[in-house]
Amino acid sequence: MQNVRPNISIISKMNIREQFPILKITANGKPLVYLDNGATTQKPQCVIDRIVKYYTEENSNIHRGTHYLSELSTQAFEHSRDTVAKFINAGKREEIVFTKGTTDSINLVADTFSTRYLAEGDEVIVTQLEHHSNIVPWQIACEKKGAVLKVLPITEKGDLMVEKLPELMTDRTRIIAFAHVSNVLGTINPVKDIVAIAHSRGIPVLVDGAQGIPHIKVDVQELDCDFYCFSGHKMYAPMGVGVLYGKEKWLNDLPPYQGGGEMIGTVTFARTTYNDLPYKFEAGTPNVEAVLGLETAIDFMDNIGYDAIMRHENELLKYCTEELKKTDGVRIYGESEFKSGVISFLINGIHPFDVGTLLDKISGVAVRTGHHCAEPLMDFYGIPGTVRASFAVYNTLEEVDVFISGLKKAVMML
Ligand code: PMP
Repeated sequence: MQNVRPNISIISKMNIREQFPILKITANGKPLVYLDNGATTQKPQCVIDRIVKYYTEENSNIHRGTHYLSELSTQAFEHSRDTVAKFINAGKREEIVFTKGTTDSINLVADTFSTRYLAEGDEVIVTQLEHHSNIVPWQIACEKKGAVLKVLPITEKGDLMVEKLPELMTDRTRIIAFAHVSNVLGTINPVKDIVAIAHSRGIPVLVDGAQGIPHIKVDVQELDCDFYCFSGHKMYAPMGVGVLYGKEKWLNDLPPYQGGGEMIGTVTFARTTYNDLPYKFEAGTPNVEAVLGLETAIDFMDNIGYDAIMRHENELLKYCTEELKKTDGVRIYGESEFKSGVISFLINGIHPFDVGTLLDKISGVAVRTGHHCAEPLMDFYGIPGTVRASFAVYNTLEEVDVFISGLKKAVMML
């Protein structure tokens, strides 16, 4: 029977693919089918051009200069901060701290929060479906302070058991940290519900938005989370830049993370005072070109619009899930009703690495295989890893077809 293709004409009409030069390459002699967007997205020409423009017309270190170029780069850098603040609807530009990425943002909070607020016997809650980046920094913090890491469980389908949160929280719980979207299961977690439960006991919440913001419109004031962390490179921006959004009250209360230039008020050997927000947390020379590229990537996403992005990626997810389910021996991990464009699966007990390697070699399809930096989640399912296909706005239904037929060929060869 012929497949009835969903209508994705809004995106096709926007010539999105043409804006990504790398999508024209071949991989192993086949047109590249890039389905590894959860690891990093490709970059549109406008972002690449922004980096070139910076180095051909604006390059200078920011904030400390009095000359023309320094003023130019400082203005551009600070303009990007305004754009990010508007993009996530932060109340104040001071609440936007530029970091290296999600990992860096979470480490910043785990380290400074534990210094100020964690004591022996206190508790930190994370969940079963976290990326290592939202487990290990908290483990380190707990170890330092003699605090306890507690874990909110998930269902077999991959939903957080939010109903268990009230009984998990105690008067020693100091913070709850969880992913907006699981990088393995694609589950979209109910941020607002969790925040409401936590706040009813006065507990702050950190959201790991690495897989959230590339696909879902984020309004930090509406979510009411205390911290929201994300990476530029998963949302069409360059590598090496990320954002920590933090409510002003928290950022003011937390001690500095790293010492160095820019984060100081005055320095003497006897005593140092610290700069105002957000500079208190931005020690050293930042990745200026990546920050500017992030602003361009935000403009790129805004031009398409989140409604169109979400509709397109949902159609890809739905179509790919249906096709995968028709394929013999496939088990999908992550069957929440609320899912973003990520599909993890195993096929006939074949090692995911073998499937991924063959997909690449025979069909030019890039997927990710392994534990996806979520070993506790793999342990929950009792598997060593999965094959993961993850979508971005430039993927097409034809690419899903290539992926599925490549998968069938790979299985026959194994
Ligand atoms: N959290 C989640 C859910 C992720 O998917 C990732 C990246 N795979 C990270 C955190 C870490 O992001 P980064 O490597 O950009 O710091």
